[in-house]
Amino acid sequence: MQTIVIVGGGAGGLELATRLGDTMGRKGHARVILVDRSPTHFWKPLLHTVASGKRDPQVFQIEYSAQAAEHGFTFMHAELRSVDRAARVLELAPCLSDDVGEVRATRALGYTTLVLALGAVTNFYGVPGAAEHVCTLDNVREAKGFYRRFFGACVRASEAAGKEGNAVNVVIVGGGATGVELAAELGYSARALARYKIHTLDPARDVRISILERGPRLLPHLPLEQSARAEAYLKSRGIEIRTGTAVTQVGADSVHVKEGEGETQLRPASLTLWAAGVEGPAITGTLGLSLNRMRQIMVRPTLQSVDDPEVFAIGDCASFVCPVKGAAPPRAQVAHQQAVFLAAALGRREGRPLPEFSYRDYGSLVSLGPVAAVGVLLGGSYGSKLPVSGAFANLLYGLMYQKHLMALHGFVRAAAVTLADWLRKRISPSVKLH
Ligand SMILES: Cc1cc2nc3c(=O)[nH]c(=O)nc-3n(C[C@H](O)[C@H](O)[C@H](O)COP(=O)(O)OP(=O)(O)OC[C@H]3O[C@@H](n4cnc5c(N)ncnc54)[C@H](O)[C@@H]3O)c2cc1C
Repeated sequence: MQTIVIVGGGAGGLELATRLGDTMGRKGHARVILVDRSPTHFWKPLLHTVASGKRDPQVFQIEYSAQAAEHGFTFMHAELRSVDRAARVLELAPCLSDDVGEVRATRALGYTTLVLALGAVTNFYGVPGAAEHVCTLDNVREAKGFYRRFFGACVRASEAAGKEGNAVNVVIVGGGATGVELAAELGYSARALARYKIHTLDPARDVRISILERGPRLLPHLPLEQSARAEAYLKSRGIEIRTGTAVTQVGADSVHVKEGEGETQLRPASLTLWAAGVEGPAITGTLGLSLNRMRQIMVRPTLQSVDDPEVFAIGDCASFVCPVKGAAPPRAQVAHQQAVFLAAALGRREGRPLPEFSYRDYGSLVSLGPVAAVGVLLGGSYGSKLPVSGAFANLLYGLMYQKHLMALHGFVRAAAVTLADWLRKRISPSVKLH
């Protein structure tokens, strides 16, 4: 019996394992194994809500072992260390605690087909001091760490009231979806913490949130008027937006910025969050597979790596380039479509040629906090573009997570989880208070 090993249980990998487990694992057609270094799955597009204290990841996570038991696959809590492609064996370091705290001695796992769904990590583009001093949003641990620091900075500044330094300067580097979504949520959190008397700062005056973007506008993947709408909304919430501004160096409590051809200036930064881009994780460079400039594994239209037909790659760690539409972006939407495609393709393989993946862009939505969002829906046979904003866009944005839940749990369970979340929201504080 063939063994299909999927490494990485994120937006793409967990859906693939669930589908393959249901169709092949349960029926004994293949052994399906999911490997992840975390024991639980948390949908990455919601990380900014953990970083702003709005969402408790404990409540929104899915236990891989439980999902595996219900859907006919095996889960291994381990970190991938290396791959011997000639022998088709993985070297895994089993993890004992969350987020790769401690690991046990490595062990080997053989495979017939390997799917890499490792996601991406923050790209610092070699900016001096960035790797040492900034916070990132690559996983739940980092998102929780950011909130702890934000919370602590607010409390400390509050205690220093009347003295110099009683302001919190949050600098977000990168005006893409991650930076914009976090800035919007943090503004709400600062106000909520004041309401709960966690700090005595004036959130509008003393909690200064800025987005520094090197390009000419925020959200460059959206049409011009939608990015202008997002900028106007954020400004109305007191968030400073500096476009055409490059961060050239990062220190422990400051960033060096250069606007256009101007002189480099120093800006205070109690907290710096780097959201300026992603690249493939370092391990992709050790596999002897061809990579693009962003360290992503280059794949054929079948999603097989260009060097090894038994190694597939999906999601953010893969570089899929459509000859007509160009490179697929690092988005959950792509990871989801690739998981659906590969589950069907591997299920029907049996010596037949594999079909070719084609990415369909349904548009993009960016959250602007609890009540608003902005974006564009693409669709129809004429490729029509429908700009959406405000509360309606916010509703659609919420539905993206429901869709993910439905893919993992089916309609009834996803609806029950959504109802439980709705009730929990009504009886819990709007932000984490410690
Ligand atoms: C704040 C934020 C907001 C976003 N918003 C959106 C949005 O609105 N819409 C959208 O489409 N996309 C959004 N994205 C992007 C989206 O989250 C990613 O494109 C998507 O999660 C990629 O899925 P993936 O399966 O490739 O990887 P991931 O979901 O990142 O999963 C990778 C998995 O691999 C595991 N892993 C990594 N290395 C190893 C190893 N060596 N051994 C074992 N396991 C390993 C990790 O633990 C993780 O579980 C957002 C991202 C962020 C950070």
